[in-house]
Amino acid sequence: MTDKPKIVIVGGGFGGLAAIKELKGVDADITVIDRRNHHLFQPLLYQVATTSLGPSEIAWPIRQLVHRRREITTLLSSVTGIDTAAKLIRLENGTEVSYDYVILATGAQHAYFGHDDWEPYAPGLKTLEDATAMRRKLLVAFERAELEAVGVVPFTQKRTALKNRNGSSIPMSGAGLLGGTGMSASTPTGAAAGNQWFPQNMEP
Ligand SMILES: Cc1cc2nc3c(=O)[nH]c(=O)nc-3n(C[C@H](O)[C@H](O)[C@H](O)COP(=O)(O)OP(=O)(O)OC[C@H]3O[C@@H](n4cnc5c(N)ncnc54)[C@H](O)[C@@H]3O)c2cc1C
Repeated sequence: MTDKPKIVIVGGGFGGLAAIKELKGVDADITVIDRRNHHLFQPLLYQVATTSLGPSEIAWPIRQLVHRRREITTLLSSVTGIDTAAKLIRLENGTEVSYDYVILATGAQHAYFGHDDWEPYAPGLKTLEDATAMRRKLLVAFERAELEAVGVVPFTQKRTALKNRNGSSIPMSGAGLLGGTGMSASTPTGAAAGNQWFPQNMEP
């Protein structure tokens, strides 16, 4: 580190990357801290959840994105607190990073509007882990439907919805921007995973 001003950016999402871009040419030492090593293009999480894209197609190492900017240091850690009086950022391992200026770009969390008990049934879609968990659930549901369709296992009341002449049933609550995108993204699951990989015994 030099005696230049120290700018710390917490979060390498859209906000953090926009700050990095704006700070190009500024004579300062910049540190980016993120609890994940990658920037994630969240708008394409549906496509990962529904199998039309792979995780590595929507996530890139933050380190790679900024490698041409020699003034930037990238740190992988979770920020647990900020001491604004001492101008220190606390990291999960108990260490601290000092700053002259800090930019907080830590994003948002999904909310259940007072119904946190809904979470196990309607998990969020904000991270690659969320998307791959959803993808696994969808694919396993198709596999189970196929087993039922060929009569290897008997239909259960719960599963009958998946063997339906009108198509597989994936209930979705909420038809705003996110619900709407999710609905259109779940079509590739039927088309790609269903038609391409599953035999004709079930109708995705
Ligand atoms: C499924 C989905 C679809 C979307 N579709 C669209 C769309 O079509 N169009 C559109 O404009 N927007 C869309 N959005 C919204 C858009 O993706 C977000 O508004 C945007 O990603 C927010 O950027 P951000 O930088 O504020 O937060 P994020 O992208 O969430 O980045 C925050 C970063 O901070 C890090 N972080 C958080 N807390 C800590 C901590 N304590 N310590 C260290 N690091 C931390 C995280 O790891 C993350 O990398 C969509 C979002 C989702 C989830």
